[in-house]
Amino acid sequence: MFTLKFIKAPLSAVQTLLLGLLFFFNLSQTHAALTKVVAKEKALRQVDVVIVGAGLAGLSTAYRLKKAGLSYHIVELSAHIGGRIRTATYPGGLQGEVGLEEFWRGNPTLEIMDELKIPKEPSATSFSSFIYKGQLHPFTQATNGQFMEAIFTKEDLNKYNTWDKSVARIYQASKVRPLTTEILGLQAISFADWVKNSSGLSPMLQEFIRLESEPEYATSWENISALDGILEWHIFAGEGSGSFHVIGGNQKLALKMAEHIGHKNITLNTKVTRIVSENDGVLVEGVDQGDYHTESLRGKYVVTTMPLFRLLEIQFIPSLTEDRKQAIASQGWGSYFTAHVVMDSKAAQFWGGDKLSSLPVLTDSALGVVYGSVDTDRKAKNSKKKTLLLNLLICGSSAEKFNMRATTAMDSVRQELTEAFEKQWPGSAAMIKKFEFYQYHPRAIASWPVGRSRLDEQSDLFRKPQGRVFFAGDFTESTHSDGAAISAVRVVQGIVEKSR
Ligand SMILES: Cc1cc2nc3c(=O)[nH]c(=O)nc-3n(C[C@H](O)[C@H](O)[C@H](O)COP(=O)(O)OP(=O)(O)OC[C@H]3O[C@@H](n4cnc5c(N)ncnc54)[C@H](O)[C@@H]3O)c2cc1C
Repeated sequence: MFTLKFIKAPLSAVQTLLLGLLFFFNLSQTHAALTKVVAKEKALRQVDVVIVGAGLAGLSTAYRLKKAGLSYHIVELSAHIGGRIRTATYPGGLQGEVGLEEFWRGNPTLEIMDELKIPKEPSATSFSSFIYKGQLHPFTQATNGQFMEAIFTKEDLNKYNTWDKSVARIYQASKVRPLTTEILGLQAISFADWVKNSSGLSPMLQEFIRLESEPEYATSWENISALDGILEWHIFAGEGSGSFHVIGGNQKLALKMAEHIGHKNITLNTKVTRIVSENDGVLVEGVDQGDYHTESLRGKYVVTTMPLFRLLEIQFIPSLTEDRKQAIASQGWGSYFTAHVVMDSKAAQFWGGDKLSSLPVLTDSALGVVYGSVDTDRKAKNSKKKTLLLNLLICGSSAEKFNMRATTAMDSVRQELTEAFEKQWPGSAAMIKKFEFYQYHPRAIASWPVGRSRLDEQSDLFRKPQGRVFFAGDFTESTHSDGAAISAVRVVQGIVEKSR
């Protein structure tokens, strides 16, 4: 289906031999045809930019290079277009997101959706229903403010609003360069300690902040610096950012972008293994994961888009600088594990039934964040289907455990989740028909531990190119897809400037 633009190294030797044989046997017609193929491959061999990875960052980079009139070719390790954007479909048409759930306002991808006329719908306000000390606090109100008024006292709310405003002030101050000593000081303590020691908030409000924000960075709030927690909090600040979901599944976005970019400009199933920088360009070599042929492509520049720790799988010539390797080693991570649960549709009674659904629910248990599929969210009341799909976004330590292929059997994950359902919603376990599990590498998203932040000098190293190698991908900017999209804007700006 996809035009292979790479030159397969072993093939060129075979081609030379064949041409010799053809000359010998005077098979002029076949000879002419083969020469044409070789000539065509040679003409395709050079592009302006080679992009490593067909996730959101790679697709967005290609999208923007096309706008800028530069040529590009994407090389993707897997058979899948979209990276961590993945939508699963089950018999009967039920759909659940395996990866990216929602695009928060401010994400440049939303503009691409509009430009490509990809229909989207608002998916959630930033706060969600949560379970505190076993009790569900359902978010069925219209706004964050009304939700909080239903739960907290006036006095608590006043204190919260003061705290929230101070966070918003720090967020604005973090955009000014150079960073002040106040901002840099927030790298030195954990988000948890900062909230506990300086917010003056009640224990329940502190827990509320932890419960609402932890699924975003997918690790304990003890593990990230206060500055990083504050930067994460911006989607919750004030009335919250609001987010969007692609109607019919986020995967549609990736496929539409690939169509626009041109499938012929994407090579799948090829792992980039070597990036050789030369005076006038870059040689990118990869291994076809089907036939293990080495393939190569030349660009004026290369853009890597995979999570930063995966750069270590590539041989760079010259090597990746030591300070960059050190920056990768000291970056933190958040873990996700996705479980889809097909249930009898009567199970909807547990999170809203005919009334407005309380999904998504932050459970603070192994169940993680319980999302509905498109059919079981706030529109569930109209659904006539016999089954429904829940999407469990399992985070942090539970996700780390479930992702351990060497020690965790999926049978025991099924048992643990079934028991967690029964404990939370007695009677719900009997309504489970089937689980499907999706494991991720423990480093599913980036985070920044105490001592570091996404704004520090080590993070800056990846926002600058190393010669002709540009670094993009969510890990270079933030924890989420906004980072992937912003990084694409940055690298294309840099390449366009250099190309002038
Ligand atoms: C379960 C889950 C839920 C999430 N929910 C949200 C959410 O609700 N909102 C949000 O904004 N973000 C969310 N995220 C994060 C979001 O999915 C990512 O930020 C975004 O998709 C990252 O895109 P990317 O292009 O930077 O990286 P990726 O999507 O990881 O793309 C990198 C690509 O590079 C390829 N690759 C790696 N190594 C090589 C190699 N050597 N050669 C060639 N190709 C290579 C990979 O196969 C991959 O396709 C979620 C992530 C997960 C895992």
